Amino acid sequence: MKNINTIGRYWKKKHGEKVYKVPISISGFTCPNIDGTVAKGGCTFCENESFSPNQVDKSKFKLNLRSVENPHLGKQLLQLQTQFEVTKERLQNKFGAKKFIVYFQSFTNTYAPLDTLKALYTKALGFDDVVGLSIGTRTDSITDETLDYLEELSKTTEVWLEYGIQSVYDETLVKINRGHDFANIEEWITKTKDRNILVCGHLVFGLPDETQEMMLHGVKETIRLNVDSIKIHPLYVVENTLLTNIYKKGKFEPISEELYLDTLVKAIKMIPDDISMSRVTAGISDSTLLSPSWCNDKHKQMYNVKQALLKEGLIY
Ligand code: SF4
Repeated sequence: MKNINTIGRYWKKKHGEKVYKVPISISGFTCPNIDGTVAKGGCTFCENESFSPNQVDKSKFKLNLRSVENPHLGKQLLQLQTQFEVTKERLQNKFGAKKFIVYFQSFTNTYAPLDTLKALYTKALGFDDVVGLSIGTRTDSITDETLDYLEELSKTTEVWLEYGIQSVYDETLVKINRGHDFANIEEWITKTKDRNILVCGHLVFGLPDETQEMMLHGVKETIRLNVDSIKIHPLYVVENTLLTNIYKKGKFEPISEELYLDTLVKAIKMIPDDISMSRVTAGISDSTLLSPSWCNDKHKQMYNVKQALLKEGLIY
């Protein structure tokens, strides 16, 4: 039996105890794939409330890389503090949590002027018991100057950039309306790694027309990009997304749990021990989930993943 290098084990070894991620959603942030810069409507599966159900952004003000002023910075800093404190307290009460990574999760978190990012990251790193940052973003929404800044930060704290790769096939990226190609992913992950910033790559299994061979090739390419951690999850259809229409027209069939588990186990066996696993499945347990039904119970999904790995002598 062998323990998989989960991000939990990685952090425990690095920080001497369990580290908890605190997800943050800041209003005023959007995505170039939503605001019309590269596309409108976003990735076909994107319905952002499904990622952060508690935080719906009703403000009209949106930042982008060309923004020169940010009149809402004060409000954003307050939001950051409130969200962090509420979640920290809950994690402390429930698990006795002592160390935290602030996770800028919703939308594209580097899609804003550097001054705004500096203010948010400095504030986050100033909270008690915070040992680092994790920043979810797209490879077409990061700049050299932001990377330079994060490189400096990462000399004194743990800094992760979480990039959505999703697929390494341009034809798939077009089908999911991703708005950039694999060359862009390769270019910016390479630049990020050249600066010694930690990278987590997100992959999705079950994207339109992708075979198991293609999904596993995606894992191989992600390993080649020298990432430090990988997140994998199945594509599922939720209400109010472009994918809903495609699915309802019978033009998309979600991946079966059997194929997902088989592909995941093969993928994990390919991934070298020094790359941690940040996630191995995902789902949503409310009525917005249209399909597949096996994605409606995260506990059962995790149980089945763990069992499938155990059969191969791997402990998640
Ligand atoms: S990059 Fe993220 S936020 Fe932007 S459209 Fe795609 S899933 Fe939505």
